[in-house]
Amino acid sequence: MIPFLDVKAAYTELKGEIDQAIARVLDSGHYILGEEVAAFEAEFAAYAGAAHCVGVGNGLDALTLAFKALDIGPGDEVIVPSNTYIATWLAVSSSGATPVPVEPDPVTHCLDPDRVAASVTARTRALCPVHLYGHPANLPQLKEICARYGLKMVEDAAQAHGARIGERRIGGDGDVVAWSFYPGKNLGALGDGGAVTTNDADVAKRIAMLRNYGSSVKYVNLEKGMNSRLDPLQAAILRVKLPYLDAWNGRRQEIAQRYEAGLAGLPIGLPSSAPGMTHAWHLYVVTSPKRDLLQERLATSGVGTLVHYPIPPFRQQAYGEMAPLAQKWPVADRLAKEALSLPMGPHLSFDDVDRVIVALRAAVAES
Ligand SMILES: *Cc1c(COP(=O)(O)O)cnc(C)c1O
Repeated sequence: MIPFLDVKAAYTELKGEIDQAIARVLDSGHYILGEEVAAFEAEFAAYAGAAHCVGVGNGLDALTLAFKALDIGPGDEVIVPSNTYIATWLAVSSSGATPVPVEPDPVTHCLDPDRVAASVTARTRALCPVHLYGHPANLPQLKEICARYGLKMVEDAAQAHGARIGERRIGGDGDVVAWSFYPGKNLGALGDGGAVTTNDADVAKRIAMLRNYGSSVKYVNLEKGMNSRLDPLQAAILRVKLPYLDAWNGRRQEIAQRYEAGLAGLPIGLPSSAPGMTHAWHLYVVTSPKRDLLQERLATSGVGTLVHYPIPPFRQQAYGEMAPLAQKWPVADRLAKEALSLPMGPHLSFDDVDRVIVALRAAVAES
C-alpha cells in the first residue's frame, strides 16, 4: 500500500531534534507566544524574504487577519480563484467582504491575470491569488493590475513554502502573504499553525495585536481582536524543520520529474511550471476525464490518491447564494471533475513512485 502522504515521516527523520525542541519549550515554562515564537517569526521572515512575520493559529486565520488588518470589509469585493480550497473564500467572507471568483489559467491552475483585469469593479479592494498546488501565481502581472487599479494584494501561500519566481522565494511581494503550517503542507507543524509575512511594519504590528485579543499591553484592548496565536511548541518544531525545507522541496522536484518521464505519452494532463517559476510541488495533480475510474483502479492497486478539490466553493452549500451563477466558472468545474493528486512528499521513495507510474499506466490502458 502506497499512502497518498505519510505525514509522520518527517517526524521520524528528525525525531531526535524535534523531541529536544519540545522538551526545551516544556522546560521553559513559557507556553503562550514568547521567545520561541519570536525566533521562528524572525527565521521564517528571513526565509520568505519579508521584513516581518507574525505567527498565528492556522492558515485560515492568517488570511482572515490579513483582510482585517487592511481594513477590507462589508461592501468590498476581493477577487479570489474559482478553483481553490474554500479557506481562501471563507477568509474574505468572515471579514464581511464578498469573494468574486475568477477562473484560472488552464496550464498553471492559478488566477488568470487577463480575466482578473476584466473582473475589477468600483468595489474591488484586493486580489487574493493562491499559489495552488505549489505553483507560483503570476505575481508580476497581478501586481501591475494592483498598481493600475489601486488594489491590495493578499497572497494565499498555504501550499507554496519555498516556491520561487526567478531567484526570489515568494513571501515578500504582496501587502500580506498568508501561510499555513497544517501538518501535510510543505512546511508542516505537528498540529495547527499559520503565519503572515509582510514588508509593512504597521500591518505586522496590527496583526500581532489582532491575533492577541486586539491587545499588545496586557488587559488594554485597542481593537476587537481574536485569539489566534502560534503555539510555541509548534514554533519550536517548525524551527527544526525549516532548515530542511529546501532539500525536501528539491526531493519533491525530483519526484515530479520522475512522474513526468514515467507518464509521458499517456492521454492524461500532466502538471508543468511556467517559465522562470519554481514549483514547490506541494501536490502533483494530473487531469483526466476518466478521473473517477482511474482513482478507483489505483486504489485497487494499493495506490492512495486524493482530489483537490472535488466540489468548488461556489457549489458548496456554504455558498448556496452562488448556486444560480455556478455555470459562470466552467474551468473550475472541469478541474473538480478531472483533477487527481498522486502520492507526493519528500519521503516518498523512487521505488514507490515507479509503482505508482506502473499502476497508473495499467489503469489508463484498461480505461
Ligand atoms: C491548507 C490551506 C489553507 C488553510 O490552512 P489551515 O491551516 O488548514 O487553516 C488555506 N488555503 C489553502 C490554499 C490551503 O491549502
